[in-house]
Amino acid sequence: MAMTAEERKLLIGGEWVETGDWIEVASPYSGETVGRVAKAGADETRRAIDAAEGAMREPLPAHKRAEILVRVAGLLGRRHDEVARTISDEAGKPLKAARVEARRAMSTYTFAAVEARKLAGEMVPMDAAQAGEGKLGFTLRRPIGVVGAISPFNFPLNLVAHKLAPALAAGCAVVLKPASQTPLSALLLAELETEAGLPPGWLNVLVGPASEIGDVLIEDERVKAITFTGSGMVGWQLAERAPKKRVKLELGNATPVIVTADADVEAAAAAMAANAFSFAGQSCISVQRIYVEASAYDRFVEAFLPRVEALKVGDPADEETDVGPIIDADARERILAWIEQARTNGARVLTGGDTDGELIRPTVLADAGPDLKVSCEEVFGPVCTVNSVNSLDEAIELANGTRYGLQAGIFTARIETAMRAAQELEFGGVTINEAPTFRADQMPYGGVKDSGNTREGPAYAIRELTEERLVVLAL
Ligand code: NAP
Repeated sequence: MAMTAEERKLLIGGEWVETGDWIEVASPYSGETVGRVAKAGADETRRAIDAAEGAMREPLPAHKRAEILVRVAGLLGRRHDEVARTISDEAGKPLKAARVEARRAMSTYTFAAVEARKLAGEMVPMDAAQAGEGKLGFTLRRPIGVVGAISPFNFPLNLVAHKLAPALAAGCAVVLKPASQTPLSALLLAELETEAGLPPGWLNVLVGPASEIGDVLIEDERVKAITFTGSGMVGWQLAERAPKKRVKLELGNATPVIVTADADVEAAAAAMAANAFSFAGQSCISVQRIYVEASAYDRFVEAFLPRVEALKVGDPADEETDVGPIIDADARERILAWIEQARTNGARVLTGGDTDGELIRPTVLADAGPDLKVSCEEVFGPVCTVNSVNSLDEAIELANGTRYGLQAGIFTARIETAMRAAQELEFGGVTINEAPTFRADQMPYGGVKDSGNTREGPAYAIRELTEERLVVLAL
């Protein structure tokens, strides 16, 4: 297994800082140490906020922000191999998926650079009211202030990029806390931002105890917005504790897909096999619940299972691997317990359901009841259910039947069916004849219900990180 053991310091006010304490970063596959990172606490967090606030006193003009963003995209391209290996080593993400993530981060920065140059307010038609006659009105888009960014382990580069790049495009300085299990990609990205010419203080990166760093970000009034991607349990608590801040949440899902009787079943099966198990299902839009109309059910299962069984399970550093490890032993045990709960409550294991060494084999469950954990909670593992339904109505009701609402999909040959599903599925995004795992980085991406309260994608995130100021001029 290829390793890039490295030691990284924190970034505060443009300085790479040691604290005397270190956090070890271990490969989820081999357990070997892949790096160690200086450990921050409350004091470093306050210093980082001081630095961010100081940086914003000298605003960077839009063209400079855009130039830096473009340069970061270029550096990500130049150091693609190193970036992809860092993601793979620390997250256990198969190298081919890590390469896709590394390329997507370039796209995120490129789109953010475009948005930086376009950021503008709008004219207000003042003379539309009698009171406004003789006045000129327009809005300015002002950066909201210092942004606290908190990111999860599963896309340790591109989800950090979705926080940093729009914030810089908006003219905001950032204090970033990446996931403790995967801080190396974030610190590598910070190095690239610095190399791209980002002045001191605009980006500060802290790794350490989540509640200690999180508490300071929540309590310090200078932090005006928190942008969080991770679990609902943590995210909604942060929002409750910071009613005066903008707390923007990108959370989980229990992703459903509907396959109607008239759909191209082969295409649906191929898309599901590729998207229910990629990165061992540890994506917030990994396909989890498949509902197939009864007359197509057997055909679908016959086309689906061989494709699932053909997936290569193994070492994430192997270019051929499709399914690697789960992030840690606790998560693995939880997923296995949920499979067991399903099995003992009437679900049939069509394939998988067991382990290959430490790895969970891709698992497909049939006849899973709606109250089972695998049907109503987010599995975040290489597990999906395939249930037969009698009608589109039933499929939509089941798809909508959880507390989540990030993305959903439908495979169908009829435009009327597709459009009905698009209107009735209660999700932030609906894909048609494409797996709901699909995301391109310019899309407005985000959830409804428990899945979140915002949209990411640079053009949308930049709105969340700026506020409108009205200017009225008497002529
Ligand atoms: P998590 O446990 O909620 O952790 C996410 C981040 O929050 C980590 O940086 C974590 O730090 C931090 N954190 C934990 N407790 C905190 C606290 N009290 N105060 C402040 N920060 C705190 O989530 P995860 O396991 O890393 O990620 C998986 C989840 O993310 C899944 O639910 C998935 O669906 C969701 N997700 C959503 C999207 C989306 O765009 N909608 C994308 C990817 C993932 P530590 O690492 O130090 O604990």
